[in-house]
Amino acid sequence: MIHYFAEKTWPELNEFIRQEAVIILPVGTTEEHGRHCPVGTDAMIARGFGDMLAEECDKLGVPALVMETIQFGFSMAVVRQWPGCPNVNPRVFEDYVFNIVDSLVTMGFKKIVMLDCHGNHDCLLRLVMREIADKHGVYTMTLSPSALSADVYNKLKKDPQGDIHGGEWETSCILYLKPGLVKPEEYTSVDAIRCNSPLRGPVSTWGLQKTITGIYGDPTTASAELGRATLEAAAVKGAQYIKEFQTVEF
Ligand SMILES: [Zn+2]
Repeated sequence: MIHYFAEKTWPELNEFIRQEAVIILPVGTTEEHGRHCPVGTDAMIARGFGDMLAEECDKLGVPALVMETIQFGFSMAVVRQWPGCPNVNPRVFEDYVFNIVDSLVTMGFKKIVMLDCHGNHDCLLRLVMREIADKHGVYTMTLSPSALSADVYNKLKKDPQGDIHGGEWETSCILYLKPGLVKPEEYTSVDAIRCNSPLRGPVSTWGLQKTITGIYGDPTTASAELGRATLEAAAVKGAQYIKEFQTVEF
């Protein structure tokens, strides 16, 4: 059974605090994802993955509360040349998430897991983790479904270069979570990743290859089955990490 933070009363929340429940905070964003995927792709993956993770926590006997998904965040200007991104300044976003987590810790929750479902947020969420630890001595966790399922994806993927934005993996996730929202007739491989250079990583991939249609990858090989397999693997592994996290004292 999934428990949603927003649906509880304060006495019920007190009971979850007493049980030392884990807070799952899905963090997405809203931005263009090519001509074939909805602008809410990252937020939809965050919400869907949050639910799947909570179900796996339940199976392991770990009490968990899922927060409402953070829908808006920071996107680099390169994706803002197309409509779809109500952009938030990165410093405002970092403060916003810090304030939410700070309040949760102050009300008594100690195990907080942020779900990182948008590449531009990785460094900002890790900054929140460090600032919370400095202020409260409470260590939070960040989980990314793409990182958690990388080994499964690498085995199953048909696009040898993989996905960065709106390609095989993200399109597969939306085909699984919200199939009616993907437009296969708009698929194109013109933005398949070609920059296999050692600079991929040290330099933002967006700077190494120009995007034509707003994506970075090849959605033509996407499938709902790939989305299901990778998200389920990520949820199982993420729940195992959370169970281990529950045993850490601070
Ligand atoms: Zn995305």
